[in-house]
Amino acid sequence: MPTPSTSPGPGIEITGLHKEFRSGRRTVTALEDVSLTTPQGSFLSLLGPSGCGKSTILRILAGLETPSAGTVAVNGTPVAAGKRAEGMGIAFQDPALLPWRSVRTNIRLPLEIQGRADDGIVDELIELVGLTGFERSRPAHLSGGMRQRASIARALAVRPDFLLLDEPFGALDDMTRQRLNFELQRIWTERSATTLMVTHGIAEAALLSDVVAVMSARPGRIVEVVEIPFERPRTPEMMRTQEFHEVVDHLSGLLFAPATGTP
Ligand code: ADP
Ligand code: MG
Repeated sequence: MPTPSTSPGPGIEITGLHKEFRSGRRTVTALEDVSLTTPQGSFLSLLGPSGCGKSTILRILAGLETPSAGTVAVNGTPVAAGKRAEGMGIAFQDPALLPWRSVRTNIRLPLEIQGRADDGIVDELIELVGLTGFERSRPAHLSGGMRQRASIARALAVRPDFLLLDEPFGALDDMTRQRLNFELQRIWTERSATTLMVTHGIAEAALLSDVVAVMSARPGRIVEVVEIPFERPRTPEMMRTQEFHEVVDHLSGLLFAPATGTP
């Protein structure tokens, strides 16, 4: 165990990242000179308009996409394109559960792939995300929020030290979304992993993150990196404070001012 005086090592390290997509004769510059670093175990959100390259950054960090230039490393290990990092958990907006599998066997899938199906962990996760009693249900019989929780449990099954979340609550109504935000905070606090969440939810980013990187519209660039100073655990009461509203206002200003000129 590290002593309290030991400062954490590097978490996410993105240096001079550049990404172009070619389709026919057209070239789209998706990312331009993106650099970002966080300490290990911290929660970073990428906040930006649709199409600004958030998912591209996430996919590069996951090794699913190759950068045109620049380097990425996570928890001190360079990311190798095409190779899934061992301690990585990933969840997308579309829960993408296998329809013929139950909640339990969907969550167990990444462990089966790694050849270490451990039902102890699976039961623990089902309880952690509040799906006890629904272990045998198929995805079609769950609500959107429950499917999303199953998808997050699946991302956590490998006990990730690196967690990637791409708009995990984007398709849900506001009330379900806020409830799941607090659940995610609780889960994340229990197993603090170096985390990157992609979102266009301003309050969601301010609530969950240690740091929010605000991005501009295409080509994606970092406009500002905003530290979120609130103590954890963060509470619904905190979201109603003047300080929280000020952070949300600041993020909104960054998000809307340069690209669209909207007040
Ligand atoms: P975001 O997640 O912020 O909405 P993306 O990272 O998905 O944005 O996309 C950024 C830009 O790159 C968009 O203009 C998108 O159309 C383009 N893009 C993303 N993936 C591809 C691809 N595989 N081929 C061509 N263009 C792509
Ligand atoms: Mg996206």
